[in-house]
Amino acid sequence: MAAGIYLHVPFCRQKCGYCDFYSLPKLSWIPAYLETVKQEILSYRNQGIVADTLYFGGGTPSLLPPEEIEALIGLCRDVFSLEGEITLEANPESSSLSFLRKIKAAGVNRISFGAQSVIPKELAALGRIHTAKAIDDAVFAAKEAGFSNISLDVMLAIPYQTEKSLQQTLSHFISLQPTHLSAYLLKIEEGTPFFQNHIERLCPDDDYAASLYLQTVAALNQAGLLQYEISNFAKPGMESRHNLKYWIGEEYIGIGPAAHSAYKGKRFFHPSSLAQYIRSQGKNLLLEGDFGGEWEQLMLSLRLTKGVDPDTFSFGQSLKEKADSYLRAGWMAKRDGKLAFTPQGFLLSNSILAQLLPDEE
Ligand code: SF4
Repeated sequence: MAAGIYLHVPFCRQKCGYCDFYSLPKLSWIPAYLETVKQEILSYRNQGIVADTLYFGGGTPSLLPPEEIEALIGLCRDVFSLEGEITLEANPESSSLSFLRKIKAAGVNRISFGAQSVIPKELAALGRIHTAKAIDDAVFAAKEAGFSNISLDVMLAIPYQTEKSLQQTLSHFISLQPTHLSAYLLKIEEGTPFFQNHIERLCPDDDYAASLYLQTVAALNQAGLLQYEISNFAKPGMESRHNLKYWIGEEYIGIGPAAHSAYKGKRFFHPSSLAQYIRSQGKNLLLEGDFGGEWEQLMLSLRLTKGVDPDTFSFGQSLKEKADSYLRAGWMAKRDGKLAFTPQGFLLSNSILAQLLPDEE
């Protein structure tokens, strides 16, 4: 089975107040980072690893010079015989037509824009430096550059958001005809400026957030962007092949600081430190545990709307019995013999999953 390669680009022009991804506003470190990333990719040489996806995530991968993106793709082609989906996350304001043309020529065939909202007050509250016009410009430029696989991110339950403002954002995004859309509920993590400044007081409460999520699912499904995962929607056949690997339990290798891997039955990761990553020449991998257990696979697969076949699990009988009350409550559904969460169930999936756990002997 081919693996996925995730390449973490830990740079942003400035930090958004809600963000707990590992990224730093230290663009002068890019050359040393690139040098180390190349060494790390080369460390996988001659291992017979074949990859069919490459994902540049971040951070803001669109801050990398296009020539370097091309060099990294070339290296991955050599080392991993890479062929397939190559995604790059980009911020609208750093995606000029000339940049998009260059990375398209370099082999990137899927672009994912961190668009989030079209409402100025919401974007300002998030600390995002782009405007609705910058999103339009970036999507049109991507199409002009030849991209036919374009994803947009939208954020839910953000400061000042209402059903009406969300509808405005969703309608705007739908009108841009993306092939894929990711919709994430804002989670205010400890240690972020949003947490310290009690920004939750400006955000919708949990009930309202749940209704914004259900509104999003309905609007996107109606627009032909079909929900396939708790937070992801796509035109048929345009699901993210890379991200699907995480949920169906395929192997992936993470390159760069804070990147996680699941490979040869183990999970391992690089700590969130660019300085340490560079100092160790990319060799500072830490073991996280085993990968591929049944229970873990159940949790991951149930993120997908296609769900799981209970009979493929050793605890399938108990799973079916335990799921019964959730089926009756409308939080789970049976489709083609598979058990899956409904959109209402996704909102409660963490607590339901804990109940689906097999009883200890
Ligand atoms: S642009 Fe994205 S990765 Fe960078 S700080 Fe903002 S949310 Fe985080």
